[in-house]
Amino acid sequence: MTNPLYDGLFAPHAGHDTPFLILPDGAILTHSDFLGQAARLAHVLVKAGLKPGDRLAAQVHKSPQALALYAACVQSGVVFLPLNTAYTATEVTYFIEDSGARMVVCDGKSEAALAPLADRLGARLTVLNADGSGSLSDAASGESKQFETATRKGDDLAALLYTSGTTGRSKGAMLSQDNLLSNAKVLAEEWRFTAADTLLHALPIFHTHGLFVATNVSLIAGGAMIFLPKFDLDAVLTHLPRSTVMMGVPTFYTRLLDSPQFTHDSAAHMRLFVSGSAPLLAETHARFSEVTGHAILERYGMTETNMNTSNPYDGARRAGTVGFPLPGTELKITDPDTGETLPQGEVGQIEVRGANVFQGYWQMPEKTAEELRADGFFITGDLGLIDDQGYVQIVGRGKDLIISGGFNIYPKEIELVLDEQPGVLESAVIAVSHADFGEAPVGILVSAPGQAPDTDAIMEAVRKQLARFKHPARLIVVDELPRNTMGKVQKNVLRDQFADILTKK
Ligand code: AMP
Repeated sequence: MTNPLYDGLFAPHAGHDTPFLILPDGAILTHSDFLGQAARLAHVLVKAGLKPGDRLAAQVHKSPQALALYAACVQSGVVFLPLNTAYTATEVTYFIEDSGARMVVCDGKSEAALAPLADRLGARLTVLNADGSGSLSDAASGESKQFETATRKGDDLAALLYTSGTTGRSKGAMLSQDNLLSNAKVLAEEWRFTAADTLLHALPIFHTHGLFVATNVSLIAGGAMIFLPKFDLDAVLTHLPRSTVMMGVPTFYTRLLDSPQFTHDSAAHMRLFVSGSAPLLAETHARFSEVTGHAILERYGMTETNMNTSNPYDGARRAGTVGFPLPGTELKITDPDTGETLPQGEVGQIEVRGANVFQGYWQMPEKTAEELRADGFFITGDLGLIDDQGYVQIVGRGKDLIISGGFNIYPKEIELVLDEQPGVLESAVIAVSHADFGEAPVGILVSAPGQAPDTDAIMEAVRKQLARFKHPARLIVVDELPRNTMGKVQKNVLRDQFADILTKK
């Protein structure tokens, strides 16, 4: 009986009273405590009728119990579907319907809003609050800490993570046990993780970065994590002295640098700082090494592929690059029109292939075929080049993705809401530099003939429909949108025109 992911990440820690999660108040959850919690939860899932391959959607706050729910899914063979806590009930409805989730775990505050939906879809609704209380934990408390691990194969699904869709529809990226396990092994080795490491974990756990990169690498190495509910500058500064490694989005590092309390001494004992999920400015890289003497290690990955490239542990970590393809991952730059591989130094679309690359989009065979070639190469949608020393540089995003504070925002989703508003003829949402978040969405509106859109009322409507991180930082009314001869809106023109609108004093 095997279950490669459980056997690789969790089973080796059975009976070990070594620290796994160190909580903000200093409480410690050992590996053995954590496995016990996971086993109890696995019993609850099975008793609720979930079978291997069924999906469990969880929109819950970060907590040890929420992480144990991921482990419980792996152990029972259930496919884990974590959801951003900022999503509104309307947004969550789509993910639950599309995935056909048989169980939905939510915060007590969302229970009433989700109950009718769960009822309609025949999904079981249970509650897990931020403090670990709720009907899920109540049900788990009486269960055994031993659970017979469900048999799974390496290509069976372990998780379904939704990405935003450029056309307004989100796609569920199907990640297999082997996709996750292979990446955890490679990263732990590349970044020299051991059981002596303590990772400062301030990332969310509904996204590949905090859930898989940070957690799986710590698990496979047998190390510990200081598990903070979110990035809070004071808390991070307090806990840094007890950590050896930190993983973050670029915003974490700019916020640390902005604090006078962050000094050379705060980072003196640290072994490694890793950055990813959005471009790290070369300027941030340089400032960080001036202050701390550490070169941040930047890596590149995405929901569909896990991690693809990394700057070297030993060797030059070059600012403005994402390093080399990881062992086992092939990366090539191709011509977007012909798919032919381009010569070194030329900009084209980044394609990757390897055990890390996902199985396809959930129930979207056409979309999968468009982006995942028959030979296994995945067209990432990112544009980049390989420089003369083999480092990969990302130069842009083919899909006009906006990355704000590490979160992905597809302009289309906001444009659809703006277009519906009274007085609006059409809209374009662009990324504009933002001092704190790296980028923020800005909405450009064209008035319907003879009308003047009420931007305050429009912002109010947007707030009701979209998660907070998607709210435009500014709405601007213009006479018309710039278009090319093919009728396509030239967002690059708008980006240039409004480049400093949020930073200009
Ligand atoms: P996600 O699926 O949320 O992980 O977002 C993936 C996207 O984030 C990638 O396709 C890239 O556009 C972007 N990304 C991730 N890491 C980096 C990086 N180090 N530099 C630039 N962009 C990045």
